[in-house]
Amino acid sequence: MASDGCRYSGRGPGRGAHRLPARGTADRPALLRRDLPTDRLRRAPAAAPARELDGGKVRWQSEFKVSHRMAPTMAVGRVALAGDAAHIHSPIGGRGMNLGIEDGYVFAACAVDALQGDLSRIADYARLRHAVDAAWVKTSRGLTGFVTDQSAKARFLKRIAPPIAASLPGLINQALKRGLGLDHPTAVR
Ligand SMILES: Cc1cc2nc3c(=O)[nH]c(=O)nc-3n(C[C@H](O)[C@H](O)[C@H](O)COP(=O)(O)OP(=O)(O)OC[C@H]3O[C@@H](n4cnc5c(N)ncnc54)[C@H](O)[C@@H]3O)c2cc1C
Repeated sequence: MASDGCRYSGRGPGRGAHRLPARGTADRPALLRRDLPTDRLRRAPAAAPARELDGGKVRWQSEFKVSHRMAPTMAVGRVALAGDAAHIHSPIGGRGMNLGIEDGYVFAACAVDALQGDLSRIADYARLRHAVDAAWVKTSRGLTGFVTDQSAKARFLKRIAPPIAASLPGLINQALKRGLGLDHPTAVR
């Protein structure tokens, strides 16, 4: 990690394309210059391969801010929220899109009944999904806080936790199930 917050993270899509995440601040977004000078590229990487790269055109860049927010309710009357409109959290764990797809699946099942006259099913959707989505937003906030915590205690825990976790297969299975979203049934009732 370079002092300007740039980090090499490996090949991007396409020939000769590489991914270079940069950490910004609230006041200063981490957008890169359109022409990325070789000296900056070489300063940035922690990974050895990038030291041999030459800078060039930045072909694509985007910016995102990590937030943790959950809508207080996922439906009011006939209006329902799903996906990132209802819940956002850090990408750690990779659950965001998958939770949104689950929202869509459950909403479809509830909407079929609502269209046949049972409007209480829209409230069912809100109840069923809020519980699952809010639980992950809470977990994600905790995980992100831990991963980004630079205190001496957190750094110590981050050093000893992986080998301990690796020796407990039950814990790994649980973590995998949670990360893959297999820790709960996708209930429609
Ligand atoms: C860096 C990063 C990594 C991620 N990795 C993962 C991962 O590994 N696994 C995973 O499951 N999830 C991941 N996610 C989360 C995932 O990308 C999102 O949860 C998902 O894309 C949300 O989908 P969505 O359809 O709810 O919202 P969006 O993808 O935001 O779609 C909303 C769409 O609505 C459009 N729109 C907005 N306003 C209007 C308007 N007024 N009129 C018309 N259209 C409008 C927008 O242009 C957009 O196309 C990641 C997110 C980030 C930022």
